[in-house]
Parts: sequence; structure tokens; C-alpha cells
Amino acid sequence: MYVKNIFDIDYDLLKKRKIRCLIFDLDNTIALIDQEKVDKRTKTLFRKLKKDFHLVIISNNYRKRVEKYATFLECDFVSFAMKPLPFGYMKIKRKFHYQKEEMAMIGDQLVTDIFVGNKMTGYTILVDPLGKKDLKITSINRFLENKIFRYYEKKAIMKRGRYYGEK
Ligand SMILES: [Mg+2]
Repeated sequence: MYVKNIFDIDYDLLKKRKIRCLIFDLDNTIALIDQEKVDKRTKTLFRKLKKDFHLVIISNNYRKRVEKYATFLECDFVSFAMKPLPFGYMKIKRKFHYQKEEMAMIGDQLVTDIFVGNKMTGYTILVDPLGKKDLKITSINRFLENKIFRYYEKKAIMKRGRYYGEK
């Protein structure tokens, strides 16, 4: 699924697909990279989603930042996950005993969120990055990503800004 942001996701569809655990990337998916506070709209969304799903934040950022958000949104988290390596996902799977098909990954990056998410979870949702600023370590991924997007567009696989529910 490719949508503009986390508010546009068809969560009912995910429920129908028997997804039990939603794994969210943090930076540029839930919040801007230098955003200190969670906005109310996100808090409300998470509170609503919690009735149907187990919510986990997975981030390459350091513990203090990720924990702050997870505490405010009252959900679990994995920090310093070293995405696109699969360890963070393995940790979630092991700790909470999920089948691959029961987990969905939501993130703003093809390389760190979606490609590994496709391998480790049953469903992936790409969102547009909330802002232009990234973690330093992310810039190489963005460079790669731009190349991939250009290729996708050429092959008519997908185009940035042209959203779709399910493919
Ligand atoms: Mg991100």
C-alpha cells in the first residue's frame, strides 16, 4: 500500500488481512526528525488503533528519542534497530510470538522500511516522508531510493505522489 501519511492508511483492510501488529518507523513517518513533541492527531490515532492492533515503533535512532515517543504514544519500541538489517523485526517476532503474516510495517523509506519489511512482515505500507531532513546515515539510502524511484517510474511500477490502496 502506498499512501500520503499514516492517517490515510486503510486500517480496516489491515484488520481484515488478519494483521495484529503494526510496526511504525519513527522519523519522517510519525514525526519530523527534529520534532520534540508528538502531535495530538498522532496520539489520537494511536489510541484508536490500540483497540485493534499491537503497536510497535522501530527506529534506527537512539533509545532516548524513540523511548520518549513510545512512552507518549503508549506503545512498545525497538531503538537502534540497524534497519535495513532484520534484527529489530526478529526481536519483535520473538518477543511477542507473531507469525510473519500477522505483522505490517509502515515507513517512509524503501530501503530501510519497505524492502526489509517485505521480507520480515506480511504487509508493508509506504508513506511520504514528513520532512526533507533525515538522519545523516539515511542520506545514502535516499540517494539509492531516488534512483529506485526513477527506475520504478520508467517501468510504470509506481510513481511518487500517485497513491494506491493495494497492488
Ligand atoms: Mg523514516
